[in-house]
Amino acid sequence: MIQGDLKVTAPIRWAMVGGGRGSQIGYSHRCAALRDNSFQLVAGAFDIDPERGREFGESLRVAPERCYPDYQTLFAEEARREDGIQAVSIATPNSTHFAICKAALEAGLHVVCEKPLCFSVDEAEELRALAQERRRIVGVTYGYAGHQLIRQAREMIANGDLGEIRMIHMQFAHGFHSEAVEQANPGTRWRVDPRYAGPSYVLGDLATHPYYIAEMMLPELRIKRLLCSRQSFVASRAPLEDNAYVLMEYEGGAMGHLWTSAVNAGSMHGQKVRVIGSRASVEWWDEHPNQLRYEVQGEPVRILERGMDYLYPQAREDDRIGAGHPEGLFEAWSNLYYRFALAMEAMDRGDTTAVEALGIPDIDAGVEGVRWVENCVRSADAGAVWVDYA
Ligand code: NAD
Repeated sequence: MIQGDLKVTAPIRWAMVGGGRGSQIGYSHRCAALRDNSFQLVAGAFDIDPERGREFGESLRVAPERCYPDYQTLFAEEARREDGIQAVSIATPNSTHFAICKAALEAGLHVVCEKPLCFSVDEAEELRALAQERRRIVGVTYGYAGHQLIRQAREMIANGDLGEIRMIHMQFAHGFHSEAVEQANPGTRWRVDPRYAGPSYVLGDLATHPYYIAEMMLPELRIKRLLCSRQSFVASRAPLEDNAYVLMEYEGGAMGHLWTSAVNAGSMHGQKVRVIGSRASVEWWDEHPNQLRYEVQGEPVRILERGMDYLYPQAREDDRIGAGHPEGLFEAWSNLYYRFALAMEAMDRGDTTAVEALGIPDIDAGVEGVRWVENCVRSADAGAVWVDYA
């Protein structure tokens, strides 16, 4: 049970690039990083507008001289200080991730980067090589991957509770962009512009979340080939898709299906992962994150509740309050962030075994997300054909 006691030797001196006032995801990073005192926010380049960023940083109690106009100045000035930052989180639009992440690694910093990590596998591999060479952590914020019931599903699958795995159904399909809301909303506008979003919209923005959750549940699964069909139902979004279907064939014969959409009218979030075995299935849905459906063929449905003694021990480690009370996205993010901090500390002392045991979405997860999107786009743009997974 997490009680908020310090897990690292000392809080990690931490900065943010992006995540400024009014951004969608900046507050989630701060809530998660600061919750268990694993990190201390001491600097930042919070906004594309330097003045707005400085004002916002000061309102967060960051010293005025450590609210920088841009990430280049942030990394250069902090490197000169004895008490300079040790880690940085990047919460800016997709088009900037590669350059900022590369500069952070070159400055010797640990990184937490938003998804998608970058635009192409070539860029992602460059970041992986740099992180390995500098022995730095790159964590990627697939937030719900930190939820305890994802770990429960992973243990159930590993222990054979479902039998042989046959199908994996993944979904992240909301309805908030059923109309061209980007005309009035800058946070959506860049998402449908390839210059800022990259080669995809919903595949990179949404689908990489359930894709990674399934990867966590089934770490051994490897895609053999896939087929993707993508559409722009709001025509002005073309060539970027606001809806896509992906079929996957895995090594060993299992099949996967992923539906992602921003035009699933009426749906709030619709992020689900259902794993179907020869004997039973589990299903997790982010709108009811504290309940995991466990359906054994021929028996009544069971709803496994977070925090209960009947769960595997790995699904109890990160409980913050007893069963019955809801835990959700913020707690899942906090679980990721304290594990990121432990991974950074372990990497600093060269303990890669401890890093691996933490089970975080790391640089490999970041690279795999980019690879998957690249393969989906290749298939879709060739006319929705099967392509070997490259
Ligand atoms: P947003 O447009 O709402 O906010 C972006 C922020 O970055 C703003 O404060 C902006 O001023 C700042 N910014 C832009 N360029 C900058 C630069 N060069 N230097 C410093 N600051 C800069 O975007 P958002 O919705 O918060 O998304 C940001 C990133 O987070 C995206 O990559 C997105 O895919 C990702 N995201 C992840 C999740 C998740 O669940 N993990 C959820 C939402 C968004």
